Parts: sequence; structure tokens; C-alpha cells
Amino acid sequence: MSSHDGAADASPGSGSAGSRPGGLRVDVFTIFEPMVTGFAAHSLLGKAREAGLIDLRVHDIREHTSDVHRTVDDSPFGGGAGMVMKPEPIFSSVEAVDPPRPIIALGPAGARFDQARAAELAVAGGFSLLCGRYEGIDQRVHDHLVDEEISIGDYVLNGGEVAAMAVLEAVVRLVPGVIGNSASAEDESFSDGLLEYPHFTRPAEYRGWVIPEVLRSGDHARVQRWRRAMSLRRTMRRRPDLIDAMGGLDAGDLALLEEFPEEPDPPRE
Ligand code: SAH
Repeated sequence: MSSHDGAADASPGSGSAGSRPGGLRVDVFTIFEPMVTGFAAHSLLGKAREAGLIDLRVHDIREHTSDVHRTVDDSPFGGGAGMVMKPEPIFSSVEAVDPPRPIIALGPAGARFDQARAAELAVAGGFSLLCGRYEGIDQRVHDHLVDEEISIGDYVLNGGEVAAMAVLEAVVRLVPGVIGNSASAEDESFSDGLLEYPHFTRPAEYRGWVIPEVLRSGDHARVQRWRRAMSLRRTMRRRPDLIDAMGGLDAGDLALLEEFPEEPDPPRE
């Protein structure tokens, strides 16, 4: 469905999830609307939209240009390489829909996105994402329209769309009701400040590689202790900064590492 403002209403069901308790409305502003709409049709995100838990609306900024070439960029004042996204089409497309706030611009100069921010956005009721292209967006958009800027990491993408999709995925899976077993989201990497433990599925032996015995012991408490020990060890090895951030290991953690001393982290390929 396409509405008068050029939004691709990505909600196949009915109504606005934004008005539902626990639902989430997300508006995305981009010059590559099909990229985001196509991505959002699949997997968990597609299912969440069908279930009415997510009301995703993707707006094509180009719909709000006034010239025949539908120009969204212009050369930078002061000279230099590259082009800059013009303010008018962005202001117009946002003002045409009065989207949910905060309005978040994606950009490498933003605050680093993480699991804690994802969890906040998942219960915010709604928010909007603005995808830049070229060298970036006219500063007046940042100063007078956008509420905050988010970066997905210290590298430069060609555009904000992939970053917006990364934010969307991380947030949507935390919206209550989206993942069938909500415990599986609570258990994951970063939710308790640690990386997750290793997973195994059938077959129990594959090419001679046997799964850890404890996982078949049926002793649930022991499995829980083993998983915590593996989480601790993996985090110590790969992300010692996370251990520092939680104030180091306590006596219980040290005891767990002693109880399961020699189950090595699978080597990274
Ligand atoms: N000239 C800019 C980079 C522009 S990249 C600079 O040096 O900072 C073009 C667009 O890609 C940006 O406007 C932004 O929307 C998006 N983008 C690039 N890297 C990103 C990142 N790490 N996180 C989020 N968005 C990013």
C-alpha cells in the first residue's frame, strides 16, 4: 500500500501497532525505500509486522523534491569532494507524516548503538530513523529536526539503510511478543553483560567431534552452571572490557570457572 505521502506502509495487516499496548511504530526515511521495505518483508521482522506487533512505515525522501530531477543532494558550501543531502526534502518528508520521536539519524558520528539502547527503543512505543547518503546530511537537519544520532560502529558505510536495518533487527526482537520464547532474548549476549555460551544441536557426535558431556547429563542445574562458566570464559578471552565493565569476577564466578576448568572455547575460524 502506498499512501499520499509516498510512504510504503509496510504493515500488511490492519491498524497501527503504534497504538497497541506493547506495539512499536517505526518510520524510516530513505532515498532507497525498496531496500528497507524488501528487507522488512522477511524473517522475524516480517512475522512481527504480520502479527501487528510492528508498524513499519518506510518513506521515500525523493517524493518530497520539487524539481523534475527529484534532486536530494547538492555540492557542499566551502568546497570539497562529494555531495550533501539537502535539507528541504528531508524536512518536508518528516513534516508530512509527523512521525514518532525520537527521530534518530544514522551516522558514524553518533552514539554507539548497543543492546541497552536497543532494549530502550523496544519499549519506547515508536521512533524514527533517518538514513543519510553521500557525504552526509545538511547540519541544519541534525540541529533542528533530528533528536539524536546513532552509529552502528567505527567504520563508514555508503548509506544509513544498512545501519537502520541493523537497529531495526536488534530492536524488533526485543519487542514483547515478537520472539515466542522471551527467555531466549534475555539469555543472550550482552543482556547480562557477558557473551553467550556455545550452542550445540544434534548429532551429538559429528565427524568425531563430540558435544560436552554435561549437556546430555539431564542435570539442569549443572547445565546452567556450565553455561555461565562458558559465558565467563568466552568473555574473559574475547572481551575483557566487558568483564571490567561489570567490576570483575565475584567469588561465585571464580568457583564456576574452577568447577569447569578445561572446556575450551571453540577456536575461531
Ligand atoms: N562523510 C561522513 C560519512 C558519510 S557516509 C563521515 O565521514 O562521517 C553516508 C551515510 O552513511 C551517513 O550519512 C550515514 O547515514 C550512513 N553511515 C555511514 N557509516 C555509518 C555508521 N557507522 N553508522 C550509522 N550510519 C552510518
